[in-house]
Amino acid sequence: MNNFELLSANGHEQLVYCLNEESGLKAVIAIHDTTLGPALGGTRMINYSSESEAVSDALRLSKAMTYKAAVAGLNFGGGKAVIMKSEKTEKSELLFRTFGKFVDGLGGRFIAAEDMGTDVKDMEFVRMETKYVTGISKAIGGSGDPTPVTAYGVYIGMKASANQKWGNDSLRGRKIAIQGAGQVARHLSEYLYNEGAELYITDIDNNKIKRLLEMIKATVVSPEEIYDVNAEIFSPCAIGGTINLQTIPRLKCEIVAGGANNQLQNENTDGKLLLDKNILYAPDYVINAGGLINVANELEGYRQDRAMKQAENIFSILKRVFTVSADKNIPTNEASARIAEERLQSISKIRNIYSGSSYFSGRLGELTKKS
Ligand code: NAD
Repeated sequence: MNNFELLSANGHEQLVYCLNEESGLKAVIAIHDTTLGPALGGTRMINYSSESEAVSDALRLSKAMTYKAAVAGLNFGGGKAVIMKSEKTEKSELLFRTFGKFVDGLGGRFIAAEDMGTDVKDMEFVRMETKYVTGISKAIGGSGDPTPVTAYGVYIGMKASANQKWGNDSLRGRKIAIQGAGQVARHLSEYLYNEGAELYITDIDNNKIKRLLEMIKATVVSPEEIYDVNAEIFSPCAIGGTINLQTIPRLKCEIVAGGANNQLQNENTDGKLLLDKNILYAPDYVINAGGLINVANELEGYRQDRAMKQAENIFSILKRVFTVSADKNIPTNEASARIAEERLQSISKIRNIYSGSSYFSGRLGELTKKS
C-alpha cells in the first residue's frame, strides 16, 4: 500500500514528514481524526528498522489516541509523532527545538506530549518553539509527572470492575497480582494496600521491588509465575502484549484491570478469549486514561485536584463499557471501540458548523483562538 492508501484504510487525515539535516531530525507526525478537537498525542523516539515501520507505528498509535480521548469524554483528536532514532540522532536541545518548529507549523492541529523515549525535559525544548505542547514540568507551569493521576484512574477503574463482577466496589481482602513495580504500579499498590488488598508483585528489576516493599507489604513472585497466582484480579502494569494465547489459559483471575498500554497481544481475538473465560477485562485505554486526562488538563491551566476528579469519571465510563459488552454480548474492548465511534459519529454532525469561538479557558483557549 502507498501512504495515501494507508491513510485511507483507517480514516487518517494527515501524515507529516519532518526532515532536518543539521539536527539529525527525521520524524513523522500522524493526525488521525480531529472531529473532537486538536490531535493530542505523545512523541515517541525509538529505533525503527525502516521508514515504513515508523509510519505504521505513528498511524496505529494516532488512531488509538482518537479512541482514548473519545471514550474519556475529552475534546481532543488523535495524533502521534515518532522521531526515528539512529546512531546519528543525539537527543539534544537542537533536535527537540527543531521538532517544535515543525509542530508549530501545524498551527495547533497537533499538540505534542512525551512518550516512550522522550521526557518532560525534551518537551520543554519543544515548548521553546511552540505553545502546542503539553506535559511539561510543574516548575514552568506544566502538569509534571502524569503517573499519580494515571494510577488513581486505574484504582478507580479496578473498583468499577469489582462493582460489575461482585456487586461491591471494595477491594479489601481481594487478592491482586500486579505485573511490574514501576511508576504506575507503585502508586496503584499504595491505594490497594491502604484499602486492605492482599498483593502479589513482580518485576524484572529487583531494585524496583525493593523500593516498593519499603512502602507496602506484598508477596513477591517471579515474572513468569505472575500469571499462575491464585488472584482475583490480574493487573498488567509493565509492558504491552502480556495478555495472549499463552497466558490467558493460565490466568485464574476474574478481572484483568491494569495500567499498561496495549495489554492484548491480539485485539481481534484476546478480548473474546477473556470473555469466553468469564474474565472481565477493563480495556487498557479506558482504565489508563488518567495520563491523557492529566496532560489535557494542563492545556486548561493545570490543577491536579481537577485532574484527579476527572479521573474519577473512569468509574462510570467503564460501567458503560461493561453494560454495552453485556447487552450486545461482545468483548469489552469491542464495546469501548463502539462507544468511541458513536461519539465521533455524533459530534461529526456539528463539525461543519464550527463557530470559530471556543469555550475553553486557559492555555487551550489561547491555542484555539483564531488570530
Ligand atoms: P515504568 O517503566 O516506571 O514501569 C514499568 C516496570 O515494568 C519497570 O519497573 C520494568 O522493570 C517492569 N517490567 C518490564 N518488563 C517486565 C516483565 N516482563 N515482567 C515484569 N515487569 C516488567 O513505567 P510506568 O510509567 O509505570 O508505565 C507502566 C505501563 O503503563 C506502561 O505500559 C505505560 O505505557 C503505561 N502507562 C503509563 C502511564 C503513566 O502515566 N506513567 C500512562 C498511561 C499508560
